[in-house]
Amino acid sequence: MPREMFVMKKRPDAAAKGEATITHSQFCREAEGEASRETSPGQTGVPAWPIEMAETIWKTLRAPHSAHFLNSPAGRDFMTFEVGHISTVRRTAAPSRSPGSHWLLAATIVCGTVIGLSSQSLLMAEDKPIRVLMVTQSVGYVHGSVRRPADTLSPSEIAVKQLAQHDGWFTVDCTQDAAADFTRENLQNYQLVFFYTTGALPISTENLDYFFKDWLRQPGHGFVGTHSATDTFGDYMPYWDMIGGTFAEHPWNAGNTVTIAVHDTGFPAMKPFGKEFQIKDEIYRYKNWQPEKVRVLMSLDMAKTEPKRPFMVPVSWVKDYGKGRVFYTNLGHNEGTWTDPRFLEHLNLGMQWAAGKIDGDATPNPDVSAELEERAKKDAGQ
Ligand SMILES: [Zn+2]
Repeated sequence: MPREMFVMKKRPDAAAKGEATITHSQFCREAEGEASRETSPGQTGVPAWPIEMAETIWKTLRAPHSAHFLNSPAGRDFMTFEVGHISTVRRTAAPSRSPGSHWLLAATIVCGTVIGLSSQSLLMAEDKPIRVLMVTQSVGYVHGSVRRPADTLSPSEIAVKQLAQHDGWFTVDCTQDAAADFTRENLQNYQLVFFYTTGALPISTENLDYFFKDWLRQPGHGFVGTHSATDTFGDYMPYWDMIGGTFAEHPWNAGNTVTIAVHDTGFPAMKPFGKEFQIKDEIYRYKNWQPEKVRVLMSLDMAKTEPKRPFMVPVSWVKDYGKGRVFYTNLGHNEGTWTDPRFLEHLNLGMQWAAGKIDGDATPNPDVSAELEERAKKDAGQ
């Protein structure tokens, strides 16, 4: 019976951070020996692990995205991994529950990449995964969440790659070169476009026009924006009219813990949050805000948030755009947000909705915005 597990590789920047410098192939050779001895004495070949153990390590890795396996049986410090891709494997031995099992599990999984476990995707028999183009180019402010150390991906890109690998319904290509990759021709390869960007991206007017007037209006096509996606293209109307608003200021800084009220608890992307929740993240106020065109899913609870301001502050919204869909969430400034399981599920479900994989009502709710505006004035003492 096929089993799912995660194939991981050592991050290329591990050595630069003063972490273990053992090479990939050395590690795998040694790890294979350890794991084989531990799990199936006298047998050779690749030990495999059941889904429960793969999930254990997945959870360990998911938050934070760099996981350290200290005090391994061989006395090494291990190590920073990122998830590779989903493989199917056969169980060949009972899993070890020895004290070193974390290390061994990691070792076993790494071995899979080198020895070449048959990695036919589990998704072969299901829907073909959709393709996502994730753009994290910063022409203005560069967030830590999109900064790529050395030649590896940024925290937000790793988080989305891990979502793709864990949930399997999409694959993602990450770019910080919009001029090369955000083109009419290349968009044909994708169903979702995802921006965590700032400033006037180097995309030609022709390609932008095509995106707004044609590509995004097609059924099954969607746009997902996190955080500074609204601090992109400034006052360029076709863009803010598409996404729903433009960054104006952020009275709530990265160190602020805010309380957010959920207005549509039935919308898929809201399910991880319940009726209200708290989070430490930078929250924007918007201009070019068009409540009549969007469905606000959640907003700041001004009564429970400092500093107080006499206006409504939307935090996530959705809208239909032709036959395509737009999902935006303000969250994501802090790197820690990209390892917050609530945020990751919020994003995952928002992406699925934007891609047309799941339903959710996007009927604009300007009445909710108007009521919140009045309430915020009272809560701020005006
Ligand atoms: Zn920010």
